[in-house]
Amino acid sequence: MRMYDLLLRIRRERLVRYPRIFVYRTRTYFGVSKALVAIIGTEACRWYRYGGCTMCPYPQYKPKEINVERDLKLVLRRLESERPQALMLYSSGSVLDEREVPFKLLKEFLSKIPESVKEVFIETRPEFVDDRLVELDTHAHIMPAIGLETSNDVVRLYHIRKGFLRKDFLKALEIAKKYAFGVKAYVLLKPPMMLEFEAYEDAKRTLKDVDKDGVRVVSVNPVHADPGTLQYYLLKRGLRKPPSMLTLFKLLSENFGRRYVLISEPLKAGKPEGIRPRKDIKEELRRLKEAVRNQDPRPIEEYLAEKQDSA
Ligand code: SF4
Repeated sequence: MRMYDLLLRIRRERLVRYPRIFVYRTRTYFGVSKALVAIIGTEACRWYRYGGCTMCPYPQYKPKEINVERDLKLVLRRLESERPQALMLYSSGSVLDEREVPFKLLKEFLSKIPESVKEVFIETRPEFVDDRLVELDTHAHIMPAIGLETSNDVVRLYHIRKGFLRKDFLKALEIAKKYAFGVKAYVLLKPPMMLEFEAYEDAKRTLKDVDKDGVRVVSVNPVHADPGTLQYYLLKRGLRKPPSMLTLFKLLSENFGRRYVLISEPLKAGKPEGIRPRKDIKEELRRLKEAVRNQDPRPIEEYLAEKQDSA
């Protein structure tokens, strides 16, 4: 069976009510911030129609009703009541795709966000980052957030099935440096069909490359499995093991101190579908959070050393 047919066969689409909004404290470019995360309901990712990526569940959550204008108004209202320092705007696809979010609406929305908001991360594929960025009239620092996943084109095309090349990412990055504040990049740790040591080497190489490229914020996402994805399909058949926390700790401890802000917020950590703990998931997540907030590897380095001593 072709990969495309398999991806379509295993999907589990369901209806969801949007916008989904929540607030939490996290590390952003300028420090530890109160961030508002908003996911608006749109037609969803264009690439999903061509099968989508092997680990991504998001476009299968279909909006009960699509009303982007209303969703953005509701987000604005929450921004006004919460007064966060950062906004993360998602759409289960690309917010900069005109077919999902009319640029006129986005522009109007950003011109009205409260003064408290200093950073706005806009999730998008790289092909939608273009000269329109210059038209955004806002006091906040705008950063397109792009799932580069890896700097290796073969891994991105065949393990992740992302459908774009590194040169497409670099083009978007140059535009964002010119007309916005820069780019946030997501790096995927252990894409499907990769061994642990290969995944470590791939992410290590990527973290070095994005530093050279001048990315502002990097989020390392250990792959997790959601129903309806290839990652989940393989996991349930015993053909995949999620990445280990030790691999993540090693990777992060070697890369704090680069020019970018390095973050990692693993999903489903400690569950069978998420990153595998070394021993005590609560303690490991606590140390990870502390290291990320301060951009200081010591809490995780100490943990790695303690574990070696007791091994
Ligand atoms: S990861 Fe991004 S590009 Fe890939 S299917 Fe999901 S939303 Fe689309």
